[in-house]
Amino acid sequence: MSVERIKCLIIGSGPAGYTAAIYASRADLKPVMYTGMEPGGQLTTTTEVDNFPGYPEGIDGPTMMVQLQKQAERFGTEVRIGMITKVEFSSEIGGIHKAVVDNTTEIEAETVIISTGATARYLGLPSEQKLRGGGVSACAVCDGFFYKKQNVAIVGGGDTAAEEATYLANICEHVTMLVRKDEMRASKAMQHRVNSRKNITVLYNTEVDEVLGEQVVEGLRMINNETKEISEIEITGLFIAIGHKPNTDIFKGQLEMDDTGYIITEAKSTKTAKPGVFASGDVQDKEYRQAITAAGSGCMAALDAERYLASIEEEVEA
Ligand code: FAD
Ligand code: NAP
Repeated sequence: MSVERIKCLIIGSGPAGYTAAIYASRADLKPVMYTGMEPGGQLTTTTEVDNFPGYPEGIDGPTMMVQLQKQAERFGTEVRIGMITKVEFSSEIGGIHKAVVDNTTEIEAETVIISTGATARYLGLPSEQKLRGGGVSACAVCDGFFYKKQNVAIVGGGDTAAEEATYLANICEHVTMLVRKDEMRASKAMQHRVNSRKNITVLYNTEVDEVLGEQVVEGLRMINNETKEISEIEITGLFIAIGHKPNTDIFKGQLEMDDTGYIITEAKSTKTAKPGVFASGDVQDKEYRQAITAAGSGCMAALDAERYLASIEEEVEA
């Protein structure tokens, strides 16, 4: 296996990874980025991004990510197609971190910025998958605005679903919330918020049977999992809020994670439990999950990496 030594390895090519790359390359860390299976990250799966500052007319997700790539490359980031398949992080300050690319090449890096994101869970119904981007969304804060004064539905009974149902209730005419059990998993405070909104109807023991519509969402066929009764409603938007999976499988046993697999970083920084390894974006943030917050923490990760290398150099000189 060939081995290459670099200063800064960036894993993942979403808004966090590219922002880290812009800062790291301008600081002369000569970053090498591996894009993973989804070059450009989650935003390449959406059309209009309306809430990223600097685009008054909005911008479509894939275009925005191409622009971020060009900006990172302009300062010398080397963007490579490839998956990191294995890592071995050093616990020593100044230690060398190892990462294997596609089981074939080994990278030795002085610093690593992890920005592998998180993947929204979907129900897996063929009709749901067909209409992703045509009215089916996994992000109410991102796409809710497109359904202003319309009837929508949301699936899930956790804090995210409750929070997003309340968010949608401010924008949409009516929100139907489908909870598969006879109670919500969300905190009592969140449940109270949902229950106090007149334009949210919560249907318990209810699951999606089929998303209706050919090109765009037109309705929902639902099934009561106790009575097996089938019913239909007319909606234009369906929001899936049944959780996210952080892309952290390859880091298990190497870094500290919470019980849902998100990487734990030191407060007000992107430092992980291993010196020289930093985590930014959705992979360490289950609260905000926005492109701008991911980009912000990508910037922090590059600054943290630069300061870490500078402190090691100072120690060596002393
Ligand atoms: P991601 O964008 O998830 O990127 C992760 C990257 O890591 C990918 O490039 C992937 O290929 C790579 N990767 C994973 N594993 C590996 C590996 N082993 N090796 C190498 N690379 C790897 N946010 C907004 O602010 N506005 C919006 O309008 C908006 N719309 C959205 C619409 C949809 C449909 C979705 C799903 C999300 C939307 N979001 C929006 C949320 C936003 O996309 C995310 O918050 C943001 O992309 C997170 O950025 P990230 O860089 O942390 O990770
Ligand atoms: P979650 O807590 O895992 O809840 C997921 C919900 O989706 C559950 O109600 C679950 O139902 C349901 N679900 C899962 N698979 C489903 C399927 N196939 N069909 C229908 N329903 C399905 O996820 P989350 O709500 O995203 O929250 C993740 C974490 O972030 C939690 O720790 C949460 O407290 C936290 N969070 C906090 C806040 C806040 O405090 N402001 C906001 C958002 C998130 P069951 O209950 O039946 O399993």
